[in-house]
Amino acid sequence: MTMIGAVKSAVAGSSQPRPRDALAAISPYQPGMTPDLARRRFGGVDFAKLSSNENPHGPSPRAIAAATAALGQAEFYPDSTSAALRGALSKHLGVDSNRIATGPGSEALIDYFFRAYLEHGDTLLLSRPTFPSYDIFALSAGARIVDVPRTATFDLDVGALTIALRQAPKALTLCTPNNPTGNQTSRRDIEAILAATPLSTLILFDEAYFEFQDEASALDLLEAWGGVFLLIRTFSKAYGLAGLRVGYGIASSPEVVAALDRPRPAFNIAGPSQAAAVAALADQVHLRAAVADIAGERGRIERALDAAGIVHTRSWANFVFVRCDAPLEQAFDRLLAAGLIVRPIPVRGEAWLRITVGKAADNDRLLAELVDAIR
Ligand SMILES: *Cc1c(COP(=O)(O)O)cnc(C)c1O
Repeated sequence: MTMIGAVKSAVAGSSQPRPRDALAAISPYQPGMTPDLARRRFGGVDFAKLSSNENPHGPSPRAIAAATAALGQAEFYPDSTSAALRGALSKHLGVDSNRIATGPGSEALIDYFFRAYLEHGDTLLLSRPTFPSYDIFALSAGARIVDVPRTATFDLDVGALTIALRQAPKALTLCTPNNPTGNQTSRRDIEAILAATPLSTLILFDEAYFEFQDEASALDLLEAWGGVFLLIRTFSKAYGLAGLRVGYGIASSPEVVAALDRPRPAFNIAGPSQAAAVAALADQVHLRAAVADIAGERGRIERALDAAGIVHTRSWANFVFVRCDAPLEQAFDRLLAAGLIVRPIPVRGEAWLRITVGKAADNDRLLAELVDAIR
């Protein structure tokens, strides 16, 4: 070793900066298998990506046109306040625009919310299995997680949550319809949980799959509860704009939005993305057609699963959640070889697959393979 090398490694051993200890507890987000990777393994198969709950119908053509036009302004920074988008959302939702927060994906809003409110050592109460980003951003903010597991049918354990809420955790996360299980929480259960939630607890309420559910939004229940909340939704799922990264939140008050504005990157959402979201929101005809097709196909898949005696949840999202008797890796590989990319999810020692509802032809392919693959 050279002298400089020796000095450098001695320095490295003692004093080079290391990532914060809190990050050691985080498992980084695992993206699903991509068609590119799958092609490298299996060659020229035509892959259907049914692993990330994207919308196979894509966004409104008006959204593409608006984003394309906005590319002509690429040299300029975007509006850091997303005023046009917040104005459009305000009109659409009937909520004052100063209560609407936007971010590059609703995931970013989870991050902003937790960084704005969680102190080191605070607790976040959640119910697994659920969306992994809550863990990632809460742990990043230095918080601790308290898990009150879902029941065997993946419903929230209202009794156990009520007891856990007596400890007055700093934050509570609820997700309905829940990812990855697809089931929705009844308004009755939400009301019971809110009745047990102290006003010192803040609530992140995730309605990423709101457009697919049959229950009304929980917004009125959160408002009646009266504490600090952020209800988040996204343009990634029903609106088909996952690649452009736009999410929004309805906050309990303008003060919450102001708090989220402090720790966030100044320019937040790219210009073409803001333009696309405004145009997508204006095309509710496109949205309704996509949602209706997906709901119909979801019903068709679930009826076929029932007929084959396969265990699955009743999904209110754009995916189905299916129990696998075969080992998870074997089922995943078999579907992959048939050109079907799905999401394997181990749950308490059981093997489950989360499968995005695709276009009819892809769902036909899925139904032709699934029963044999998971038995
Ligand atoms: C997809 C998803 C989101 C976030 O999506 P963004 O693309 O970041 O808007 C948030 N919550 C749940 C439960 C999701 O499934």
